[in-house]
Amino acid sequence: MPKHIFITGGVVSSLGKGIASASIGKLLEAKGLKVALQKLDPYINVDPGTMNPYQHGEVYVTEDGAETDLDLGHYERFTSGVLSRVNNVTTGQIYNTVITKERHGEYLGGTVQVVPHITNEIKERIREVSRGKRYDIVISEVGGTVGDIESLPFLEAARQFGQEVGRENVVFIHLTLIPFVRAAGELKTKPTQHSVGRLREIGIQPDILLCRTEKKLSKDLKGKIALFCNVQSDAVIEARDVSSIYEVPLIFKEQGLDRVICKELHLEYRAGDLQEWKREVVDKILHPKHTVKIAVVGKYIQLQDAYKSIYEALVHGGIANDAGVLIKRVSAERLERGKAEKYLRDVSGVLVPGGFGYRGIEGKIKAIQYAREQKIPYLGICLGMQCAVIEFARNVAGLKGANSTEFNKKTPHPVISLLEEQEQVKDLGGSMRLGALPCHLKKDTLAHEAYKMEEAMERHRHRYEFNNKYKESFARLGLRFSGLSPAGKLVEIIELENHPWFVASQFHPEFKSKPDHPHPLFHEFVRHAFLRSQSSSNGEGSQKTSSESDNSSGEKVEVKERAPSEVA
Ligand code: GLN
Repeated sequence: MPKHIFITGGVVSSLGKGIASASIGKLLEAKGLKVALQKLDPYINVDPGTMNPYQHGEVYVTEDGAETDLDLGHYERFTSGVLSRVNNVTTGQIYNTVITKERHGEYLGGTVQVVPHITNEIKERIREVSRGKRYDIVISEVGGTVGDIESLPFLEAARQFGQEVGRENVVFIHLTLIPFVRAAGELKTKPTQHSVGRLREIGIQPDILLCRTEKKLSKDLKGKIALFCNVQSDAVIEARDVSSIYEVPLIFKEQGLDRVICKELHLEYRAGDLQEWKREVVDKILHPKHTVKIAVVGKYIQLQDAYKSIYEALVHGGIANDAGVLIKRVSAERLERGKAEKYLRDVSGVLVPGGFGYRGIEGKIKAIQYAREQKIPYLGICLGMQCAVIEFARNVAGLKGANSTEFNKKTPHPVISLLEEQEQVKDLGGSMRLGALPCHLKKDTLAHEAYKMEEAMERHRHRYEFNNKYKESFARLGLRFSGLSPAGKLVEIIELENHPWFVASQFHPEFKSKPDHPHPLFHEFVRHAFLRSQSSSNGEGSQKTSSESDNSSGEKVEVKERAPSEVA
């Protein structure tokens, strides 16, 4: 039976619980332990697939095609785990199951209640993660903040779970905030005391506190927190702000967090080794030899979380090339109203990410036209590929009004459309192509050169496809179809002849990129962007820690590449 770690959050949201959980996973894996991570989300949606990025940030897609919370992205990037739908549980799923059972009469006439029926179902989902698998440790991150109404059933289930498996088999870790009050010039522990008090009311005594802080915690202060919150003083861990999220496992290890976890779980202590992670990931991010500026042209650029995996994958591509990637976030809608050159003159690469709906599309197309004509390396992802096809159709093939039927059902040239089969099942819903599917890579193409293999498994999340009616004529005009589904029916990757590096995929490569295994397409994209920055004097800046963003007032603002909220 595996041991269990529950991670809760207190005081405020956005303390970086996902990164803390992923970092603990990394720390334990480095000791040779087999770790599984799971997110318990208190919202009532069945999954975040239908949520607006403004509400929820990116939707992360797993190999098995589940649309999940973006924290699963952190789990996969930090650890070797390949996650699936069992690794993300929501209140919506729990109630769905319980109500379905009730309708089937499975509760034999009983009154169905939060305790025990809902909490039993939650415990069942916690056990399901390790069923039939050999994990040493299961880490369950409870979404939300202690004190929220919604998360109560999850906390109650965690409490019961701890009691059932025995205290030596479970550890409760609470991530909290120690704010610095400037007027008083002091760090304050009271919010943490209250938050731990709330947990205790529910029956959970945390064993370890991870304290987010912008200033160093003194020994005295740690002692005070330990005393008031009833934990050992070596279990008060400072989680200070760091400049790269990938440093977090290192600062946890420095303070012996792994030792405390092993002690609490009655596990033999093995030192474990994070040297390679430090050398090959963290040092490369903190001290890159070069810098390269890349524009991400999207609809949700003001949001830190909307293109999370893409921003991370760009950082990974930078690691592979010993380059710090400065991300210039460009609003597609603003670009629609201005000249592409104004926004893209100073960048060495352009990326258009995935998305849904017409808003901002014309701006994305403009950006792609600029990248194609100015021979700036381009990476298009999902909608970014579809827009590249539309741009090619309109401006190279001369098909006026070419479009995707997602945006204009009556377009004279539906270069992106639904497959006929999909048109028929449309009313049934669920026509989205989701999860990992094979893609055949054609030899002597940029894609093949990047992957260096014949077939790749890549994750999808889309409805519309390249319309094969246009394949031959576009090929004659210099569009190469370098990746196809195994039967050759669906276009997976396109690229341009007569361009240094213009590649776009129908799938989402960003979901499979890791800091220690950068995705081949991001690796190559950043490499070509860097080559361009070397060959042209395009006025790139030399800062290494910030990226530019366009705010809604129309002024350029400097934003930290990693907001403190992302850092544990
Ligand atoms: N909206 C497009 C489609 O459904 C692209 C989706 C995406 O970029 N994830 O096909």
